[in-house]
Amino acid sequence: MPHIDNNIKLDFKDVLLRPKRSTLKSRSEVDLLRSFTFRNSHQKYSGIPIIAANMDTVGTFEMAKALCKHVAASSGTSPSDLEQLEKILEALPQVRYICLDVANGYSEHFVQFLRDVRKRFPDHTIMAGNVVTGEMVEELILSGADIIKVGIGPGSVCTTRKKTGVGYPQLSAVLECADAAHGLNGHIISDGGCSCPGDVAKAFGAGADFVMLGGMLAGHTESGGELIERGGKKYKLFYGMSSDVAMKKYAGGVAEYRASEGRAVEVPFRGAVGHTLRDLLGGLRSTCTYVGAAKLKELSRRTTFIRVTPQGPPLFGAGD
Ligand code: 5GP
Repeated sequence: MPHIDNNIKLDFKDVLLRPKRSTLKSRSEVDLLRSFTFRNSHQKYSGIPIIAANMDTVGTFEMAKALCKHVAASSGTSPSDLEQLEKILEALPQVRYICLDVANGYSEHFVQFLRDVRKRFPDHTIMAGNVVTGEMVEELILSGADIIKVGIGPGSVCTTRKKTGVGYPQLSAVLECADAAHGLNGHIISDGGCSCPGDVAKAFGAGADFVMLGGMLAGHTESGGELIERGGKKYKLFYGMSSDVAMKKYAGGVAEYRASEGRAVEVPFRGAVGHTLRDLLGGLRSTCTYVGAAKLKELSRRTTFIRVTPQGPPLFGAGD
Protein backbone atom coordinates (compact mmCIF):
# COMPACT_ATOMS: atom_id res chain seq x y z
CA MET A 1 0.00 0.00 0.00
CA PRO A 2 1.36 3.51 -0.74
CA HIS A 3 2.81 5.15 2.34
CA ILE A 4 1.63 8.54 3.61
CA ASP A 5 4.02 10.62 5.71
CA ASN A 6 1.71 12.53 8.04
CA ASN A 7 4.39 14.90 9.36
CA ILE A 8 3.61 18.34 8.00
CA LYS A 9 6.29 19.73 5.69
CA LEU A 10 6.64 23.49 5.45
CA ASP A 11 7.54 26.08 2.85
CA PHE A 12 9.01 29.55 3.42
CA LYS A 13 5.53 31.09 3.27
CA ASP A 14 4.29 28.86 6.13
CA VAL A 15 6.55 30.38 8.79
CA LEU A 16 7.89 33.61 10.24
CA LEU A 17 10.93 34.17 12.44
CA ARG A 18 10.09 35.05 16.02
CA PRO A 19 11.83 38.22 17.26
CA LYS A 20 14.12 37.76 20.27
CA ARG A 21 15.73 40.01 22.87
CA SER A 22 18.94 41.42 21.51
CA THR A 23 21.92 43.46 22.63
CA LEU A 24 22.70 44.64 19.08
CA LYS A 25 22.42 48.40 18.68
CA SER A 26 22.37 48.63 14.90
CA ARG A 27 22.13 46.40 11.87
CA SER A 28 25.51 47.79 10.79
CA GLU A 29 27.03 45.65 13.58
CA VAL A 30 25.92 42.43 11.89
CA ASP A 31 28.60 40.35 10.20
CA LEU A 32 27.34 38.44 7.14
CA LEU A 33 30.67 36.80 6.30
CA ARG A 34 30.99 33.07 6.79
CA SER A 35 34.08 30.88 6.70
CA PHE A 36 33.96 27.19 5.93
CA THR A 37 36.47 24.38 5.47
CA PHE A 38 34.98 21.79 3.16
CA ARG A 39 34.84 18.19 4.30
CA ASN A 40 36.34 16.36 1.35
CA SER A 41 38.36 18.96 -0.59
CA HIS A 42 39.74 20.59 2.62
CA GLN A 43 39.50 23.90 0.74
CA LYS A 44 38.62 27.02 2.70
CA TYR A 45 35.87 29.49 1.79
CA SER A 46 35.19 32.92 3.15
CA GLY A 47 32.47 35.24 1.86
CA ILE A 48 28.81 36.18 2.03
CA PRO A 49 27.30 32.79 1.12
CA ILE A 50 24.84 33.81 -1.61
CA ILE A 51 25.21 32.12 -5.01
CA ALA A 52 23.77 32.94 -8.44
CA ALA A 53 21.98 29.92 -9.96
CA ASN A 54 23.83 28.04 -12.67
CA MET A 55 21.25 29.06 -15.25
CA ASP A 56 21.96 30.74 -18.62
CA THR A 57 20.13 33.89 -17.70
CA VAL A 58 21.52 34.33 -14.18
CA GLY A 59 24.91 32.64 -13.74
CA THR A 60 26.86 34.93 -16.05
CA PHE A 61 30.43 36.16 -15.64
CA GLU A 62 29.05 39.69 -15.15
CA MET A 63 26.95 38.37 -12.26
CA ALA A 64 30.01 36.58 -10.84
CA LYS A 65 31.83 39.91 -10.86
CA ALA A 66 28.92 41.63 -9.08
CA LEU A 67 28.91 38.89 -6.42
CA CYS A 68 32.74 38.99 -6.34
CA LYS A 69 33.29 35.19 -6.33
CA HIS A 70 31.32 31.98 -7.16
CA VAL A 71 32.62 30.52 -10.14
CA ALA A 72 32.10 26.80 -10.45
CA ALA A 73 32.35 24.57 -13.52
CA SER A 74 28.92 22.95 -13.97
CA SER A 75 28.66 19.53 -15.52
CA GLY A 76 26.14 16.91 -16.55
CA THR A 77 26.83 13.23 -15.95
CA SER A 78 27.68 11.59 -19.29
CA PRO A 79 31.22 10.36 -20.19
CA SER A 80 31.52 13.26 -22.66
CA ASP A 81 30.59 15.68 -19.84
CA LEU A 82 33.48 14.31 -17.78
CA GLU A 83 35.89 14.86 -20.71
CA GLN A 84 34.56 18.39 -21.14
CA LEU A 85 34.97 19.07 -17.41
CA GLU A 86 38.58 17.85 -17.54
CA LYS A 87 39.32 20.19 -20.45
CA ILE A 88 37.74 23.19 -18.71
CA LEU A 89 39.54 22.62 -15.41
CA GLU A 90 42.88 22.07 -17.15
CA ALA A 91 42.45 25.33 -19.08
CA LEU A 92 41.23 27.24 -16.00
CA PRO A 93 43.20 26.00 -12.98
CA GLN A 94 41.89 28.93 -10.92
CA VAL A 95 38.39 27.38 -10.97
CA ARG A 96 38.35 25.29 -7.78
CA TYR A 97 34.64 24.40 -7.65
CA ILE A 98 32.77 21.73 -9.60
CA CYS A 99 28.98 21.70 -9.72
CA LEU A 100 27.39 18.34 -10.56
CA ASP A 101 23.87 19.28 -11.15
CA VAL A 102 21.02 17.05 -12.23
CA ALA A 103 17.30 17.51 -11.77
CA ASN A 104 17.15 14.22 -9.87
CA GLY A 105 20.13 13.46 -7.64
CA TYR A 106 18.69 10.12 -6.55
CA SER A 107 20.02 7.90 -9.33
CA GLU A 108 22.72 5.24 -8.86
CA HIS A 109 24.32 6.50 -12.06
CA PHE A 110 24.68 9.98 -10.56
CA VAL A 111 26.30 8.64 -7.37
CA GLN A 112 28.79 6.63 -9.46
CA PHE A 113 29.59 9.67 -11.61
CA LEU A 114 30.21 11.71 -8.44
CA ARG A 115 32.61 9.02 -7.17
CA ASP A 116 34.49 9.10 -10.49
CA VAL A 117 34.77 12.90 -10.42
CA ARG A 118 36.00 12.85 -6.80
CA LYS A 119 38.69 10.30 -7.74
CA ARG A 120 39.77 12.42 -10.72
CA PHE A 121 39.70 15.75 -8.80
CA PRO A 122 40.63 15.03 -5.17
CA ASP A 123 41.22 18.68 -4.22
CA HIS A 124 38.33 20.46 -5.92
CA THR A 125 35.26 21.41 -3.95
CA ILE A 126 32.32 19.47 -5.36
CA MET A 127 28.72 20.64 -5.13
CA ALA A 128 26.22 17.92 -5.98
CA GLY A 129 22.46 17.63 -6.20
CA ASN A 130 19.61 18.17 -6.27
CA VAL A 131 18.10 16.18 -3.43
CA VAL A 132 15.66 16.94 -0.60
CA THR A 133 16.07 14.20 2.02
CA GLY A 134 18.66 13.48 4.69
CA GLU A 135 19.58 9.93 3.65
CA MET A 136 20.53 11.04 0.14
CA VAL A 137 22.49 14.02 1.49
CA GLU A 138 24.54 11.54 3.54
CA GLU A 139 25.09 9.23 0.56
CA LEU A 140 26.33 12.08 -1.65
CA ILE A 141 28.67 13.43 1.04
CA LEU A 142 30.09 9.96 1.70
CA SER A 143 30.55 9.55 -2.07
CA GLY A 144 32.79 12.63 -2.23
CA ALA A 145 30.57 15.73 -2.38
CA ASP A 146 31.40 18.72 -0.15
CA ILE A 147 28.25 20.78 -0.60
CA ILE A 148 24.81 19.36 -1.36
CA LYS A 149 22.28 21.29 -3.42
CA VAL A 150 18.87 21.00 -1.83
CA GLY A 151 15.64 21.65 -3.71
CA ILE A 152 13.31 19.71 -5.98
CA GLY A 153 10.44 21.70 -7.39
CA PRO A 154 10.60 25.06 -5.59
CA GLY A 155 12.18 27.14 -8.42
CA SER A 156 10.39 30.21 -9.76
CA VAL A 157 10.40 28.89 -13.34
CA CYS A 158 10.22 25.22 -12.37
CA THR A 159 7.20 23.14 -13.34
CA THR A 160 8.38 19.81 -11.87
CA ARG A 161 5.64 19.72 -9.22
CA LYS A 162 2.98 20.28 -11.89
CA LYS A 163 4.44 17.93 -14.49
CA THR A 164 5.41 15.09 -12.18
CA GLY A 165 3.71 15.56 -8.82
CA VAL A 166 7.15 15.20 -7.20
CA GLY A 167 8.66 17.71 -4.78
CA TYR A 168 9.28 18.69 -1.16
CA PRO A 169 8.44 21.96 0.60
CA GLN A 170 11.71 23.86 0.68
CA LEU A 171 11.89 24.98 4.32
CA SER A 172 11.48 21.40 5.59
CA ALA A 173 13.93 20.12 2.97
CA VAL A 174 16.52 22.62 4.22
CA LEU A 175 15.89 21.86 7.92
CA GLU A 176 16.23 18.10 7.38
CA CYS A 177 19.11 18.18 4.88
CA ALA A 178 21.16 20.70 6.90
CA ASP A 179 20.86 18.46 9.94
CA ALA A 180 22.05 15.42 7.95
CA ALA A 181 24.92 17.30 6.26
CA HIS A 182 26.20 19.02 9.40
CA GLY A 183 26.31 15.67 11.19
CA LEU A 184 28.99 14.65 8.67
CA ASN A 185 30.73 18.07 8.56
CA GLY A 186 29.23 18.67 5.11
CA HIS A 187 27.44 21.77 3.88
CA ILE A 188 24.25 22.53 1.96
CA ILE A 189 22.94 25.06 -0.52
CA SER A 190 19.26 25.94 -0.36
CA ASP A 191 18.52 26.04 -4.08
CA GLY A 192 15.35 27.70 -5.34
CA GLY A 193 12.12 29.11 -3.99
CA CYS A 194 13.38 32.40 -2.53
CA SER A 195 11.19 35.24 -3.77
CA CYS A 196 12.23 37.99 -1.33
CA PRO A 197 14.99 38.80 1.20
CA GLY A 198 12.82 37.36 4.00
CA ASP A 199 12.85 33.93 2.29
CA VAL A 200 16.66 34.06 2.11
CA ALA A 201 16.74 34.82 5.85
CA LYS A 202 14.40 31.88 6.53
CA ALA A 203 16.65 29.55 4.48
CA PHE A 204 19.70 30.60 6.54
CA GLY A 205 17.62 30.35 9.71
CA ALA A 206 16.69 26.77 8.77
CA GLY A 207 20.39 25.87 8.53
CA ALA A 208 21.40 26.52 4.92
CA ASP A 209 25.12 27.30 4.62
CA PHE A 210 24.61 28.88 1.19
CA VAL A 211 21.52 30.18 -0.61
CA MET A 212 21.24 29.98 -4.40
CA LEU A 213 19.10 32.49 -6.26
CA GLY A 214 17.65 32.43 -9.76
CA GLY A 215 14.55 34.59 -10.14
CA MET A 216 15.65 37.17 -7.56
CA LEU A 217 18.74 37.91 -9.66
CA ALA A 218 16.99 37.75 -13.06
CA GLY A 219 16.15 40.83 -15.12
CA HIS A 220 19.29 42.82 -14.28
CA THR A 221 22.00 44.37 -16.43
CA GLU A 222 24.36 41.57 -15.33
CA SER A 223 21.83 38.80 -16.12
CA GLY A 224 22.17 36.98 -19.42
CA GLY A 225 19.87 37.37 -22.39
CA GLU A 226 18.74 40.15 -24.67
CA LEU A 227 17.08 43.29 -23.39
CA ILE A 228 13.59 43.29 -24.92
CA GLU A 229 11.82 46.62 -25.51
CA ARG A 230 8.07 46.62 -26.04
CA GLY A 231 5.40 49.29 -25.53
CA GLY A 232 7.94 51.62 -23.93
CA LYS A 233 8.85 49.00 -21.31
CA LYS A 234 12.01 46.91 -20.95
CA TYR A 235 12.22 43.19 -20.11
CA LYS A 236 14.77 40.40 -19.96
CA LEU A 237 14.06 36.79 -20.77
CA PHE A 238 14.46 34.35 -17.85
CA TYR A 239 14.03 30.64 -18.50
CA GLY A 240 14.35 27.34 -16.67
CA MET A 241 17.22 25.10 -17.69
CA SER A 242 14.81 22.33 -18.65
CA SER A 243 12.35 24.65 -20.37
CA ASP A 244 11.61 24.34 -24.09
CA VAL A 245 13.86 27.38 -24.69
CA ALA A 246 16.90 25.81 -23.00
CA MET A 247 16.34 22.37 -24.54
CA LYS A 248 16.08 23.86 -28.02
CA LYS A 249 19.31 25.75 -27.42
CA TYR A 250 21.32 22.82 -26.09
CA ALA A 251 19.68 19.63 -27.35
CA GLY A 252 17.98 20.83 -30.52
CA GLY A 253 14.52 20.42 -28.96
CA VAL A 254 12.57 18.51 -26.33
CA ALA A 255 13.21 14.78 -26.79
CA GLU A 256 10.17 12.58 -27.59
CA TYR A 257 10.28 10.76 -24.26
CA ARG A 258 10.38 13.77 -21.94
CA ALA A 259 8.39 16.87 -21.06
CA SER A 260 9.90 20.25 -20.36
CA GLU A 261 9.98 20.98 -16.63
CA GLY A 262 10.61 24.68 -16.81
CA ARG A 263 9.04 27.89 -18.03
CA ALA A 264 10.29 30.95 -19.85
CA VAL A 265 9.18 34.35 -18.57
CA GLU A 266 9.90 37.96 -19.43
CA VAL A 267 11.07 39.76 -16.29
CA PRO A 268 10.71 43.57 -16.07
CA PHE A 269 14.21 45.08 -16.43
CA ARG A 270 15.55 46.12 -13.01
CA GLY A 271 18.87 47.83 -13.83
CA ALA A 272 22.14 47.03 -12.09
CA VAL A 273 22.08 44.11 -9.65
CA GLY A 274 23.96 46.13 -6.99
CA HIS A 275 20.74 47.77 -5.84
CA THR A 276 18.96 44.40 -5.45
CA LEU A 277 21.95 42.95 -3.58
CA ARG A 278 22.07 45.90 -1.16
CA ASP A 279 18.36 45.44 -0.49
CA LEU A 280 18.91 41.72 0.12
CA LEU A 281 21.90 42.16 2.44
CA GLY A 282 20.14 45.00 4.28
CA GLY A 283 17.15 42.69 4.86
CA LEU A 284 19.41 39.91 6.15
CA ARG A 285 21.22 42.23 8.56
CA SER A 286 17.86 43.41 9.83
CA THR A 287 16.69 39.79 10.36
CA CYS A 288 19.82 39.17 12.43
CA THR A 289 19.14 42.20 14.64
CA TYR A 290 15.50 41.13 15.19
CA VAL A 291 16.58 37.71 16.48
CA GLY A 292 19.76 38.90 18.23
CA ALA A 293 22.35 37.27 15.97
CA ALA A 294 25.55 39.32 15.75
CA LYS A 295 26.78 37.09 12.92
CA LEU A 296 25.03 35.23 10.11
CA LYS A 297 26.65 32.13 11.60
CA GLU A 298 24.49 32.55 14.73
CA LEU A 299 21.21 33.02 12.84
CA SER A 300 20.11 29.38 12.80
CA ARG A 301 20.91 29.00 16.52
CA ARG A 302 18.80 32.07 17.27
CA THR A 303 15.92 30.91 15.04
CA THR A 304 12.51 29.93 16.29
CA PHE A 305 10.02 29.58 13.46
CA ILE A 306 6.39 30.19 14.18
CA ARG A 307 3.88 28.56 11.88
CA VAL A 308 1.47 30.96 10.27
CA THR A 309 -1.60 30.60 8.14
CA PRO A 310 -1.75 32.65 4.94
CA GLN A 311 -3.73 35.85 5.48
CA GLY A 312 -6.07 37.46 2.96
CA PRO A 313 -4.74 39.82 0.27
CA PRO A 314 -3.38 42.84 2.14
CA LEU A 315 -4.33 46.41 1.38
CA PHE A 316 -1.97 47.88 -1.26
CA GLY A 317 0.18 44.75 -1.13
CA ALA A 318 1.56 45.78 2.28
CA GLY A 319 2.78 42.88 4.42
CA ASP A 320 3.54 40.72 1.39
P1 5GP B 1 14.61 30.37 -8.11
O1 5GP B 1 15.65 31.08 -7.28
O2 5GP B 1 14.39 31.04 -9.43
O3 5GP B 1 13.33 30.15 -7.36
O4 5GP B 1 15.19 28.89 -8.40
C1 5GP B 1 16.38 28.68 -9.08
C2 5GP B 1 16.61 27.19 -9.19
O5 5GP B 1 15.58 26.57 -9.97
C3 5GP B 1 17.87 26.79 -9.95
O6 5GP B 1 19.05 26.97 -9.20
C4 5GP B 1 17.58 25.34 -10.29
O7 5GP B 1 17.83 24.47 -9.21
C5 5GP B 1 16.06 25.36 -10.51
N1 5GP B 1 15.75 25.34 -11.96
C6 5GP B 1 16.29 26.08 -12.94
N2 5GP B 1 15.75 25.80 -14.13
C7 5GP B 1 14.84 24.83 -13.91
C8 5GP B 1 13.95 24.10 -14.76
O8 5GP B 1 13.85 24.32 -15.98
N3 5GP B 1 13.20 23.14 -14.17
C9 5GP B 1 13.27 22.88 -12.82
N4 5GP B 1 12.53 21.91 -12.33
N5 5GP B 1 14.07 23.58 -11.98
C10 5GP B 1 14.85 24.54 -12.53
